[in-house]
Amino acid sequence: TGEITIDDLRKVYDPNGEHVVAVDDMNLEVDAEEFVAILGPSGCGKSTVMDCIAGYLEPTAGDVLVDGNRVSEPDPKRGVVFQENRLFPWKTVQENVEFGPQMRDGVEEGRAESILDEMGLDGFEDSYPPGLSGGMQQRAELARLLANDPDIMLMDEPFSALDALTKEIMQEKLLEVWERDNRTVLFITHDVEEAILLADRVIVMTARPGQVKDVIDVDIDRP
Ligand code: ADP
Ligand code: ADP
Repeated sequence: TGEITIDDLRKVYDPNGEHVVAVDDMNLEVDAEEFVAILGPSGCGKSTVMDCIAGYLEPTAGDVLVDGNRVSEPDPKRGVVFQENRLFPWKTVQENVEFGPQMRDGVEEGRAESILDEMGLDGFEDSYPPGLSGGMQQRAELARLLANDPDIMLMDEPFSALDALTKEIMQEKLLEVWERDNRTVLFITHDVEEAILLADRVIVMTARPGQVKDVIDVDIDRP
């Protein structure tokens, strides 16, 4: 599970009749357990595509299918991480990580602790997110996502705001998790080096005049 099909996806924003074509007839297949990066200049529609896959936005035309089913609303099985974390500031790191599973079928004893430990958050369980450094916040964000055991990890520039060293550590962590757990990862970045380092396949979105989005598909042999 974790296969994504984007079928003639079109998204037009229409604030005050402005008619901004953000994505125009985009097609893409992502296999289950594949690690795909979407690379492209700012404004080319990357986040819009991601939000349609997440179920936050409804396509203007076309479809997004996950394992053959049309996406109609958000689902914790499609976990999303943004550049800025979406943690609750008034909940501790551990409470944030336990929140999702708690809402559904209860928290398995010791599961949050083992995820926190794996993410290097030992000793930060009782901290509140705003009191942590950016790097520690993104660790907590990744832990929160993993606690929901997603089939698909949708990551929208998750490490772009981090310093070089922290970024490297987080990239390694992500690859470790991906290789072990066989989850599909769709990773948005504007950083060519990051895309090639992480992904098996890089989707390059180009912004042409008239806002037609071309997709160039590149296979990468990761060292
Ligand atoms: P990227 O993630 O590649 O930077 P986006 O998907 O954020 O691109 O944006 C694609 C285009 O859609 C841009 O021209 C952007 O200004 C526009 N856009 C994005 N969100 C909205 C919105 N909510 N309302 C109107 N226009 C938007
Ligand atoms: P950055 O914000 O630059 O990405 P990191 O998250 O990598 O920084 O944190 C750098 C170091 O500071 C790490 O060793 C981490 O354990 C420690 N650290 C981060 N946040 C705190 C905190 N709130 N209190 C104490 N140590 C912290």
